[in-house]
Amino acid sequence: MLPAVLAARHPEPDLPQVAQAIRPAERSLLRFITCGSVDDGKSTLLGRLLWETGAVYEDQAEALARDSARFGTDGKNRDYALLVDGLSAEREQGITIDVAYRYFATPRRAFIAADTPGHEQYTRNMATGASTADVAILLVDARKGVLPQTRRHSSIVSLVGVKDIIVAINKMDLVGFDEAVFRRIEAEYRALAEQLGFRSIHVLPLVARDGDTLTRRSGRMPWYAGPTLLDLIETLEPVLPTDGRFFLPVQWVNRPDADFRGFSGTIASGQIRVGDPVTILPQGRASRIAEILTPEGTRSAAKAGEAVTVTLADETDVVRGDVITLGHRPGHTTGTLTARLLVLGERRLAPGDRMLIKLGCATVPARFEALAHELSVEDLSPRPAGHLAMNGIGKVVLRPEAPLFALPYEECRTLGSFLLIDPITHATLAMGVIDTVSGPSREASTRPGKPAPAVLPRFWPKSRVERTRLAVTTLAFALAGFLLTGTLAGALALAALDAIGRPLLHALQDRFWPAGERPASAPVPEPGLDGGGI
Ligand code: GDP
Repeated sequence: MLPAVLAARHPEPDLPQVAQAIRPAERSLLRFITCGSVDDGKSTLLGRLLWETGAVYEDQAEALARDSARFGTDGKNRDYALLVDGLSAEREQGITIDVAYRYFATPRRAFIAADTPGHEQYTRNMATGASTADVAILLVDARKGVLPQTRRHSSIVSLVGVKDIIVAINKMDLVGFDEAVFRRIEAEYRALAEQLGFRSIHVLPLVARDGDTLTRRSGRMPWYAGPTLLDLIETLEPVLPTDGRFFLPVQWVNRPDADFRGFSGTIASGQIRVGDPVTILPQGRASRIAEILTPEGTRSAAKAGEAVTVTLADETDVVRGDVITLGHRPGHTTGTLTARLLVLGERRLAPGDRMLIKLGCATVPARFEALAHELSVEDLSPRPAGHLAMNGIGKVVLRPEAPLFALPYEECRTLGSFLLIDPITHATLAMGVIDTVSGPSREASTRPGKPAPAVLPRFWPKSRVERTRLAVTTLAFALAGFLLTGTLAGALALAALDAIGRPLLHALQDRFWPAGERPASAPVPEPGLDGGGI
């Protein structure tokens, strides 16, 4: 799942002992996220939920009473948000910055809740939390109704594959528990979300601070006869991976000595048995599973979600980033892929840009071929755009510039989602999910409107780092010119030579020898993981 890609960079804490203790084998697990604008009451809702489900220990309750008096935003009353707003910076500013994961359980189910920031500049943290969630609880302040941030968060949770959304219209006490206000916001939200493809949309009136409609119906809103928030999160069934085909992205080539060569990773989908014929993608080499090893010992079979090391019957060349799949298949590499992108970094992304794409365990260079449209935050309608800025969501065409096996997100979450990374700074630029994948033929992937190769895009460096580097070397050249000639003219001449000459050389190189035809730059290794090829 996108989740997998993203979670690899922003690891969700391991399910701690407490969650394992509260999760007997027969109790199911639901991951949910709370999102919405700042001050809508996300932390209060989660804190109150922890309180009412008995997840708050005595010492925490005492600390809450103490902290509420010191930092609380609700007079002398308990400020439940303090149970989840862990960072002191958050407490002082009264906002949630990081993603806080909380674990709690009821007799019916165990939960992992991600409390995420509401401020627009923390959209990437929210997207991180959403990427592993089964259900999203989207808060709306009853006084404010649907806001741009409501639309943005809705499209992000839909983008990362969340299928069930609960819209919590909070602070109903501040609109006099008025049913008409609730119905108006509900109707507006349902109309807006129609195009987002959720499986279910539940809309609830809440007073998170006091617990109304949280774990029990509210006497103050007798007109609401639907389920409580707890009813919903206890009963909504997570969407299971739809695809049963076996895929094992190879995360590590495990070669402790000359006698053993294993391929380790987490099975993305399907199952495998010893003796099964397999194909290594994207190359298409065939082999057979010889052994399946897990931390608990040798196994005859393994399934999706399990971390395994497999050995193959042949001396097949397998490297990190390859994908092992079941059965005999021809090799398959990606020509272009159309994807929905959310820009996470400050760098604007535009057709012509080059970056690294990290998909499954593979990282290869890629080119931003075309921007089909951007989604308007106002009404989520598509509109033409020349670039995508931070927090922008758009439909794009990307071309990996080295062999890569990818799938549509609907078929496999792990191999259908990716991160885009700046090749120079290694900063995360964007996350995306794939809608369609085309084969490697250039014709098949050439689309109308594809920008012609241009000399100029590369002439003026796009990234701040490149521009800073250019400025520093130009200054150095100017100084050298001055020292050599002792004149201002000499300094200017050398500076101009560097400032114009170098970008021009780059531009000409891109024009006449495109990166796709140059040897690809090495994929970025992750520290301590890669055991190399055979
Ligand atoms: P967050 O930024 O979305 O996490 O919002 P918080 O949970 O920190 O809440 C922001 C403010 O709204 C705090 O002062 C809360 O006490 C208050 N608040 C939260 N829920 C309610 C509610 O249902 N009614 C009222 N009146 N205030 C609430």
